[in-house]
Amino acid sequence: MDLQRLVVDESVSTLFPPGVLLDELNDTPIETTVFDESVDRLSPDQGVVTFDYHEAFLDSGWVHCVLAGVDQFPFERFQDESTPLTNSTGIHGDAIGETVAGYVLAFARRLHQHIGNQQRRDWSQPDWDEAWTVDGETACVVGLGSLGRGIVDRLTGLGLDVVGVRRTPTPEPGVEEVYTPDDLLEAVSEARFVVLAVPLTDRTRGMVDGETFAAMDDDAYVINVGRGGVVDQAALVTALEDDLIAGAALDVFETEPLPDASPLWGMDDVIVSPHCGAFTRDYCNHVAALVDENVSRIRDGDDLVNRVV
Ligand code: NDP
Repeated sequence: MDLQRLVVDESVSTLFPPGVLLDELNDTPIETTVFDESVDRLSPDQGVVTFDYHEAFLDSGWVHCVLAGVDQFPFERFQDESTPLTNSTGIHGDAIGETVAGYVLAFARRLHQHIGNQQRRDWSQPDWDEAWTVDGETACVVGLGSLGRGIVDRLTGLGLDVVGVRRTPTPEPGVEEVYTPDDLLEAVSEARFVVLAVPLTDRTRGMVDGETFAAMDDDAYVINVGRGGVVDQAALVTALEDDLIAGAALDVFETEPLPDASPLWGMDDVIVSPHCGAFTRDYCNHVAALVDENVSRIRDGDDLVNRVV
């Protein structure tokens, strides 16, 4: 591919201003610009950096998504058009790991309740047996990729014992036992925290359902930082209402933004964050490093890193 130009789609502004990425790509040996739909016609000598998918991108020579999750991109269309698609897997482990550690500590130390009480100027101490410490508790991390790695490192650092789930049952440092998805119910049964860090695929859609919540302890929490569709959200609401589980921290939802009418907004022991668990002021630098690497590889005729299609 004779890559001459790189365009940055405005949609990246969900994560950072497009101009900041252009500044970071200053040393890239090709023209870089913000994509202007009204004047720009994409061609195979141009690459696109984007958050959203647009059909017009199929006319370009390469598309890079600034997210790890590319479930909204039609892989078959990319294959048919021979347009390579790369993603940003690998840059989120630290931020997501810290976010998950934050949820875990909030539940154990009741921090989310204090914040809620503070808004009402309500000086309410927890009951004597409400707060606890996480040392020696067990977490089950479903998905042991780059997110999973960052989560395992933080949770073991806090003294938790960690088991994991992925299709490839090879050992993973810091993870006491690796289960396959067939043994999901057994894997979650002993865990105080079940942390979901898998991509949304045909196999993971709805993989955490009523049966999974029934297999969890009633004092266990589910944490979802993967994709909303991995959880059967109606079954989650029922499990929370019926006290099958103790609570949930959710960064991702079946429908985003979470609709006003969702009961999840108002539930005790539910933390809702607006799909920002990976946000960090360094996000843009990390994307720039990946894009830079692939620009060099394209120019050298080498294989792309993080190639999905
Ligand atoms: P990776 O590709 O590095 O890891 C994915 C992991 O999931 C691997 O361990 C993989 O192992 C496992 N996996 C895949 N399919 C299954 C399955 N059917 N059952 C069990 N495990 C499975 O991806 P990342 O860790 O970088 O990201 C994971 C997902 O998290 C992304 O696709 C994205 O949707 C989401 N994400 C969310 C963010 C947020 O802001 N909340 C930020 C970044 C990512 P194996 O192949 O052996 O099964």
